[in-house]
Amino acid sequence: MSLTLAPAWEPLSDRSIAGEIIRRDEAVSVLRCSDDDLLGLLHAVFRVRRTYWGRRVRLHVLQNAKKGSCSEDCGFCSQSAHYDSPTGEYKMQSVEEIVEGARRAKRARAWKYCIVTAVRAPSQRDLDTVCEAVRRIKAELDIKVCTSMGMLTPEKARRLKEAGVDRFNHNLETSERFFPEVVTTHKWADRVKTVKVAKEAGMEACSGGIVGMGETEEDVLDLAYALREIEAESVPVNFLDPRPGTPLESLPRVTPAYCLKVLCMFRLVHPKADLRVAGGREVNLRWMQPMALYAVNSIFTSGYLTTPGAHPSQDHQMIRDMGFEIEEAPAEAEQCGCGDARSATW
Ligand code: SF4
Repeated sequence: MSLTLAPAWEPLSDRSIAGEIIRRDEAVSVLRCSDDDLLGLLHAVFRVRRTYWGRRVRLHVLQNAKKGSCSEDCGFCSQSAHYDSPTGEYKMQSVEEIVEGARRAKRARAWKYCIVTAVRAPSQRDLDTVCEAVRRIKAELDIKVCTSMGMLTPEKARRLKEAGVDRFNHNLETSERFFPEVVTTHKWADRVKTVKVAKEAGMEACSGGIVGMGETEEDVLDLAYALREIEAESVPVNFLDPRPGTPLESLPRVTPAYCLKVLCMFRLVHPKADLRVAGGREVNLRWMQPMALYAVNSIFTSGYLTTPGAHPSQDHQMIRDMGFEIEEAPAEAEQCGCGDARSATW
């Protein structure tokens, strides 16, 4: 009987910890890791995760503040007005509704609350609403705030920063090469530009993408390295959950094992990033979800923009069972006297 030697993943994680960028051929070997070697790979990648993030897990909660009727034609998105996809659209929520969402997120022990609007770019009116909501959230709660509102100008970015927004999300979605296959109403370069504008205004950049849209391995690598190039502090990795009515509705889901290999590759390329297994976690990773925590340090809880997800109590249980701990945002605002958020019910 011949024995095949497993690839030595530890030297790769050592170099990642030391700040070296792993080579593309090495990143490919991670994506192509055999299922027999997957535990060894996760073990090595966990060393990187533990170095920078210990056993801490950040929970992120999304608030879809304006849903549907988006002018853009992103082929994966059921909020696009170009597709006949059932989403239950609604106009911009009120300041109070957005603030109430932040209170719910805090009760779920979220580290970050992410306010999202389905738009190409924010109108002045939507910006007024979100900025007012963020000011109130920051005055009342200890929670980080991210906004995702499409393309930014320097002036709009400055307004968000001044209101107290910590991060701005704008995903590159996929490689520059594959992007026109899924989006035609704007360019990949437009997305890079908005990430730069957000950073220049002093916000952290949250930028990631979606895996499982029919892209090649090379596209996944291109995305990972492009995100390193733009110095994204936060990297959400989504796995496509094909939405009825969108052009990608018939694509098969990726396998749970492939999801883990993708997350391992992203961790090795982004050792220090707030790396998140994002949309599609429950339906793509299924029973292997807990193992993703060996690579990532954050997850969304309580669902996504257009699809449901795990209840916070389920995610809390998973984190406890795995021997990890929830990291909440440090105190930075004056307390509102609203009681101990940890003991409140979701
Ligand atoms: S991904 Fe964003 S920009 Fe694209 S269609 Fe959906 S909401 Fe609009």
